[in-house]
Amino acid sequence: MTQGLVYLAMWRRTLSTNHRCLGCRGGGLLKRVWSAHSRLVSGAPALPADRITALQAADLWRTRFEEEGVTEPEESSRYIIAHVLGAKTMESVEPERLTEHLSRGKTEQVWQLCTRRLSRMPVQYVIEEWDFRDLTLKLRPPVFIPRPETEELVELVLTDLRRKSGPGVGSESGQTCVEVGCGSGAISLSLLKSLPQLRVFALDRSQDAVDLTGENASRLGLRDRLQIYQADVMKNAESVLSLCGSASALVSNPPYLFSEDMASLEPEIYRYEDPAALDGGEDGLNVIKQILTLAPLVLSDQG
Ligand code: GLN
Repeated sequence: MTQGLVYLAMWRRTLSTNHRCLGCRGGGLLKRVWSAHSRLVSGAPALPADRITALQAADLWRTRFEEEGVTEPEESSRYIIAHVLGAKTMESVEPERLTEHLSRGKTEQVWQLCTRRLSRMPVQYVIEEWDFRDLTLKLRPPVFIPRPETEELVELVLTDLRRKSGPGVGSESGQTCVEVGCGSGAISLSLLKSLPQLRVFALDRSQDAVDLTGENASRLGLRDRLQIYQADVMKNAESVLSLCGSASALVSNPPYLFSEDMASLEPEIYRYEDPAALDGGEDGLNVIKQILTLAPLVLSDQG
């Protein structure tokens, strides 16, 4: 009988990592996900007539975000300004640059990007990239933004695949993995990066996600071991099976929110992220049940 192992990610909090990360350090991801609190956005502060330093700009925008109830005000302004300075974090910018005046062009860029954040666009979409484990991924709406908790899911899968393949570099040769709902490619690309012999079939119902996974794979030099298909497991189960039957592992961070909770999501989520990547139906289990039905058919006997 097939011993299927299916990995499903849940949004658990994780501890901080050394890279760009929102929601990694306590502070209540659930609050961020579920709060229905949203205020009308008034205008952005006027572009300063006098020159301004990066630290002054960060302070000004943090205050503005706080006034407007924008979540993670401090992190938002610091990540955006670091990005404009060509860095990932303010901590990694040489201290002298933070107290120098910004050029007019950079000031305008800060204003443009921070104004997007003021309209509740997630920072990850504002700067069009984010870190996931050891990868930097391109991100754009409406493709689901990888959550820090999913990094833990990748660790679990890696541990399991390594255990199954036994010791020795390259011993995972021949292993294949199917990902249902690849989004930006975070899970598939992390697995490919960590296991140099692995091959992955990544599926998503959304063409935007398929395109973005492909783009990220090419940028990271991982395209040759990845096959990406636009396929909806709820509708085209047959074609999914014919494309990628007999896999070593099946991994997914599927939509699992209750439909009735979709209306109380934070504006960052409901305005910008694809609802199909979040809404799991009445009991949150629509896609999960389908994945569990397909699992014994997709997985190899040792899968
Ligand atoms: N697998 C992707 C991620 O975890 C997309 C998940 C989704 O669309 N629900 O980021």
